[in-house]
Amino acid sequence: MPEPNGLLTSTDAGLYCEAGDFFVDPNTPVDRAVVTHAHGDHARRGSGAYLTSAEGESVLRHRMNEGAVIDTLPYGEEIDLNGVRLSFHPAGHVRGSAQVRLEYDGEVWVVTGDFKVTPDPTCTPFELVPCDVLITECTFGLPIYRWPDPDAVFDQINRWWRKNREEGLTSVLFGYSFGKAQRLLAGVDASIGPIYTHGAVEKMTETYRQDGVDLPATTYVSDENAPDDWSKALVVAPSHAGGSRWMQRFDPVSTGFASGWMRIRGNKRRRSLDRGFVLSDHADWPHLNDVIRDSGAETVYVTHGNNDTFARWLQENGIDAHPLALRSAMDESEDADDDSEDDSDGGSSG
Ligand SMILES: [Zn+2]
Ligand SMILES: [Zn+2]
Repeated sequence: MPEPNGLLTSTDAGLYCEAGDFFVDPNTPVDRAVVTHAHGDHARRGSGAYLTSAEGESVLRHRMNEGAVIDTLPYGEEIDLNGVRLSFHPAGHVRGSAQVRLEYDGEVWVVTGDFKVTPDPTCTPFELVPCDVLITECTFGLPIYRWPDPDAVFDQINRWWRKNREEGLTSVLFGYSFGKAQRLLAGVDASIGPIYTHGAVEKMTETYRQDGVDLPATTYVSDENAPDDWSKALVVAPSHAGGSRWMQRFDPVSTGFASGWMRIRGNKRRRSLDRGFVLSDHADWPHLNDVIRDSGAETVYVTHGNNDTFARWLQENGIDAHPLALRSAMDESEDADDDSEDDSDGGSSG
């Protein structure tokens, strides 16, 4: 199984650029970390210095240790690191998410990080970046993963909330606290009722607001802030809050979960959810294939998800593709499995 061995190489600490002497999304503290976005599986605490997109500065600062050295670069601007020209390009995944473009010796490499092509009002839209070598995520690299129109999904969510309100049920909507929760807030019809948030969601939402992202008013769930009647409210919380003591105050409830994994019916049942809403911050099957083809890359490495199967599919379609096993390449943002999710403090994986 060939590993990338050129401008970037795969090491125990993650992708390393020897010419520029930096890592991309290292899984352990290093001297110099280039970070695609601030999810815990891509941005680890303890590195000597970070370089991230200008849009991503606040969210990264929120999640790294106090006093972390964070340098930033606006999307599309280039810097020179020991002769390697580096620039960030929007990945459309969550606020500040960036693809990393590296140019050296006439060759262009792109690392997508996590990305989605579907519009999201809380971050800059995805931009296609032509390259010679592409290292891309493929979290949802199976043909079954095709996303419905997000507007239709928000209609479903709003109808569910209205109906719960009529029936006297509190609407508790689960979604990852960084990225998904803010996208949900931006998309729901806030005229239906008051919106309450779990602490982890509230903190990140405040960071988004300070960045100028337009989000409806929210109230942090606490005993002091409790309304007489929860049944009019929409409560946005990370999925690990499900089944906890924290949930008991909302009874009787209807629970919903917004995630790409909700495309598979069994996932809803397994989690004892009342509703599953198919809303993902990752590219679906058609978008993954489009982006890989349109990038013009001659060599493609795929990480996350069913990367062996996906690489084989690409090979069958004439693309020089290889699965790339990055240690700790776990997906945080879609709550793939919330057992290890450490949401309250920024998370290490999950
Ligand atoms: Zn990821
Ligand atoms: Zn992510």
